[in-house]
Amino acid sequence: MLRRVGLSLRHFLLERKSCAGYSSYSGEAKMSRPVQARRLEGIDKNIWVEFVKLAATYSTVNLGQGFPDFPPPDFLKEAFVGALSGENHMLHQYTRAFGHPPLVKILAQFFGKLLGRDLDPMTDVMVTVGAYQALFCCFQAFVDEGDEVIIIEPFFDCYEPMVKMAGGTPVFVPLRPKAPKDGKLMSSADWQLDPAELASKFSKRTKAIILNSPNNPLGKVFNRGELELIADLCVKHDILCISDEVYEWLVYDGKEHIRIASLQGMWDRTVIIGSAGKTFSATGWKVGWTVGPNRLLQHLRTVHQNSVYHCATVAQEAVAQGFQRELERYGKPDSYFVQLPKELQQKRDWLVQSLDAVGMKPIVPEGTYFLVADISEFKSDVPDVPNSDEPYDSRFAKWMVKNKGLAAIPLSAFYCGPHKNNYNHFIRFCFAKEEATLKAANDILQKWKREKTSP
Ligand code: PMP
Repeated sequence: MLRRVGLSLRHFLLERKSCAGYSSYSGEAKMSRPVQARRLEGIDKNIWVEFVKLAATYSTVNLGQGFPDFPPPDFLKEAFVGALSGENHMLHQYTRAFGHPPLVKILAQFFGKLLGRDLDPMTDVMVTVGAYQALFCCFQAFVDEGDEVIIIEPFFDCYEPMVKMAGGTPVFVPLRPKAPKDGKLMSSADWQLDPAELASKFSKRTKAIILNSPNNPLGKVFNRGELELIADLCVKHDILCISDEVYEWLVYDGKEHIRIASLQGMWDRTVIIGSAGKTFSATGWKVGWTVGPNRLLQHLRTVHQNSVYHCATVAQEAVAQGFQRELERYGKPDSYFVQLPKELQQKRDWLVQSLDAVGMKPIVPEGTYFLVADISEFKSDVPDVPNSDEPYDSRFAKWMVKNKGLAAIPLSAFYCGPHKNNYNHFIRFCFAKEEATLKAANDILQKWKREKTSP
């Protein structure tokens, strides 16, 4: 019966179409009007889609995309399993839209302690689908047509399209490398802002600056002086700061992660963004958060309630329990936030050593789980193509994964279009990997070096 109604409806629609002068029906009726919204123009390409596919097809060792290949800590997995199979079956249902109450409460307590201020869990914290959605909410909530947003290069690539989708204009200012002294390896600290150049980017049109410290891809941890420079300009020009701090616990060599929101005049104008993915080595859970004054977060809630609305309850419950545990062990040797950076620092040092040994000069990162290396000495393996549209490092990374089975990400992916060739002889590796993975990477590099040097 239903089928008969369906058929006759189709017949009726076809008849109407031919009466209306449409071309005769031939299979699917094709639309001819443009379907793409204007705000999507020019932002359809995505480096991760391309390089994740290449890594899946060719790599034997994947140091490309940023995720650990080791498991999250047992206490976190147990919390998840407990939430999933425990008696509280309401954990399988929707929870509060702006964050599961146990999670926003513990985040308010934890960040309240870090920032030295009382936070209201219901208004000063919002849970998001990863830090990605937190960023999206910020740009949608704050950026109007014609507003400018300052982005420090190299930058986590989604900032640029997200600003554009909100109708804003990204304004780029680069970190400029200084050659290290005495033949030492370069450090991410050698990449610095030029204060005059930074100041020149602020104007009446500037609405916000996005800061990412520790920075992906360089691993730079902005020091107090650098943060004060940015903070002073934000206050002077009355500008918002979107502070992407997803790698806040991953700092090495005794360096300190300073929260720009704790500097004078900054709390009122800063949204802090965090990620359980990076914090607890569980990137697939996609639990993130924003912390800031209600004055700002109320607008993020508007975007959140009209887009994603809600994040997975079970994952939020488990992350809440993870933070509860960490609060109890804060600063103690058995805290995961103390242990993880220790382990990662060792992994960083291994990778620094293997790259240095083969002449792929590493820039030693002060934080994050990324390391950028100079490929200049390997250029003879991958000849330059003059006037190519594709930056050299991108062709190099593709060649490397296809021919050596080692996946990495070109640094040019972290620059805007016109600047992609400014620093095009670097690639980024992720060292949040098992010892065996790093050893396999070392084997590939050593073999490659031997092949290069043998007559
Ligand atoms: N910001 C930065 C700087 C990142 O590197 C990433 C992930 N690579 C994100 C935000 C997104 O984090 P999440 O996976 O929690 O969405």
